[in-house]
Amino acid sequence: MRTQVAIIGAGPAGLLLGQLLHKHGIDNIVLERHTGEYVLSRIRAGVIEQVAVDLIDEAGVGARMHREGLVHDGTQICVDGVRHRIDFKELTGKTVMVYGQTEITKDLMDGRAAAGAQTVYTAEDVALHDIFADQPRVTYRADGKVHEIECDFIAGCDGFHGISRQSVPADAISSYERVYPFGWLGLLSDTPPVSEELIYVRHRHGFALCSMRSPTRSRYYIQCSLAEDVHAWPDERFWDALKPRLDAQARERIVTGPSIEKSIAPLRSFVGEPMRFGRLLLAGDASHIVPPTGAKGLNLAASDVRYLSEALLEHYQEKSAAGLDHYSARALARVWKAERFSWWMTMLLHTFPDSMFDRKMQLAELDYLFGSRAAATAFAENYVGLPF
Ligand SMILES: Cc1cc2nc3c(=O)[nH]c(=O)nc-3n(C[C@H](O)[C@H](O)[C@H](O)COP(=O)(O)OP(=O)(O)OC[C@H]3O[C@@H](n4cnc5c(N)ncnc54)[C@H](O)[C@@H]3O)c2cc1C
Repeated sequence: MRTQVAIIGAGPAGLLLGQLLHKHGIDNIVLERHTGEYVLSRIRAGVIEQVAVDLIDEAGVGARMHREGLVHDGTQICVDGVRHRIDFKELTGKTVMVYGQTEITKDLMDGRAAAGAQTVYTAEDVALHDIFADQPRVTYRADGKVHEIECDFIAGCDGFHGISRQSVPADAISSYERVYPFGWLGLLSDTPPVSEELIYVRHRHGFALCSMRSPTRSRYYIQCSLAEDVHAWPDERFWDALKPRLDAQARERIVTGPSIEKSIAPLRSFVGEPMRFGRLLLAGDASHIVPPTGAKGLNLAASDVRYLSEALLEHYQEKSAAGLDHYSARALARVWKAERFSWWMTMLLHTFPDSMFDRKMQLAELDYLFGSRAAATAFAENYVGLPF
């Protein structure tokens, strides 16, 4: 087989890139290790920045998001039982969209199917070859046979554990990492959200987040130890751990119900530099990870895709290498700022073992955030997404 761009991974980064390239007549094939159903069963992000909304629109798959997504003008932060509000719209003129990653992925899959673009699901043993040559190749196994794709470029959009970053020579990449000493235990339920806006909770028992996917579907998280086993958390235990962290009004209002999904996610900051290795270009979680506190992972995947699709368009339509040459530096400049914000929010709102000094620093920082318009504006600017 032959294509212009072989895309590894059918997560949001791979599918969005495929859709944008296809729209501009650039041929591409997406290879995904799992089935489409499995990809859609992973419950993840839910808060979308305006820049990502715009890109989804540009890819031509935004109609359902605008019908069903919830526009949020602000967010709430509850500190030891007292709630404060940060008004994004008033401070920055911008808003965010609450619309599940699963729904975006589904819209992109439907768009790709309607366009007749090729996706190979359950592609096993994907391997990258000759990434520093002019004509790289990708091989994979499907239906008991080995297949080979010749291409101009490989887009590594296969997430943190994917094969693309692992295919890079160790001395060609620098990695920067912070692993946090806790995780998030998440519960999804078909119950109305406790609040119209997200509530981030800082409490001495640990962080919590009251989020949502729709007016009838809620997503709650509590900070938990990395040693926890999700099976040791029947729904009642989860609700009993969440409620004391909330303010009195939220505790009274919250509607609990059976979970439809429950999982534990570890928290990690990671960046691999650069993002380009010859004809291999990494995008999304394949290149960097943020703790989900700042709701930036999916949004960074989208901003990488914007830079990368523009660079590939320049290559094919204007015969210019400038976009590809600058892809890594441009994308990383935005990535590091989102890394900083996600790290900062994580440090601000979680309970860390044994440090009264850190706890005092958190409270001073929060006091400043709620008392200073400049500090609140800086928070809002980062949360709604920094400009390109
Ligand atoms: C609990 C949780 C909550 C989150 N909340 C938010 C949020 O509110 N906002 C936000 O912006 N982000 C959030 N994120 C992060 C967000 O989900 C990710 O950043 C996003 O999924 C990145 O998209 P991606 O396409 O780069 O990678 P992925 O979604 O990981 O997709 C990669 C794809 O590649 C496939 N793949 C892997 N290896 C191979 C291989 N060898 N061959 C072929 N295919 C392969 C995988 O199966 C997968 O389908 C959250 C994440 C978690 C875990």
